[in-house]
Amino acid sequence: MNSIDVNPLGSRFPKTMAAELVEVGRGFYARGWVLGTSGNFSGVVSREPLTLAITSSGVDKGALSTDDILLIDGEAKVLEGKGRPSAETLLHLAVVKLRGAGAVLHTHSVWSNILSDASFGEGGVKIEGHEMLKGLNGVETHEHSEWLPIIENSQDMAALAATAARTLERNPASHGFLLRRHGLYTWGRDLAEAKRHIEIIEFLLEVLGRTSFTQKR
Ligand SMILES: [Zn+2]
Repeated sequence: MNSIDVNPLGSRFPKTMAAELVEVGRGFYARGWVLGTSGNFSGVVSREPLTLAITSSGVDKGALSTDDILLIDGEAKVLEGKGRPSAETLLHLAVVKLRGAGAVLHTHSVWSNILSDASFGEGGVKIEGHEMLKGLNGVETHEHSEWLPIIENSQDMAALAATAARTLERNPASHGFLLRRHGLYTWGRDLAEAKRHIEIIEFLLEVLGRTSFTQKR
C-alpha cells in the first residue's frame, strides 16, 4: 500500500524499518497480542548517535501506518515524525543500551498477563524442556532452562525503566521479562529475531498456562 511505499519521515528515517515495524504490529494485532492500542515496537536506526524508530503513543496496532512511527534519540526526544513516542519508550531504551538489541518488542497478551501474576511470588517464570526454546538466540537444546523475570507494574515509567535495567543486569541470560498483569518484553539483534522471540515466548507462555490449568483439574 502507498503508506509504506513512501517515506514521510525524511531521509534520516529508513522506510524499510518503519514498514517492517508496521507489518510486525499488524501481525501481532491479528494474533490478539496488542489489542486496544496496547503494546509498542522499536528498532535501532543508528548506534552512534543512538536513534530509534518507535511506535507513537496510543495508536491502533491493527491499523498502523508508517505515519505512526517516530524517530527518537537516546534520551527519548522526538527527532522526526508526529505525535508522542510510546509511554514505555524508556524501557525500550534501557533494553537497547543494556542488551545491545537491534529491536525491542512488547506485547499485552492474555497469557503474559495471567502467568506474570500467577508466578509473581516466585519472581519469574521458568520454562524448560520444550523444543520451541531452540527458537531463542543461542539456545541449542530443548534442555535449556529459560528464566523470565517478573517486574511489578507501575505508571512511573522512569522508575519502571530503572527496575527493568536492574533486572536485565541481574539476569544476563534471560531473553525477555514480564511486567506483572501487563505484558512481555523481548528483543533481538534485529527485528526478525525480536519477532521470532515474541512468537516463541508467547507460544511457551500459552503452553505453560494451559498445562497448569489442565493439571489443576
Ligand atoms: Zn505495555
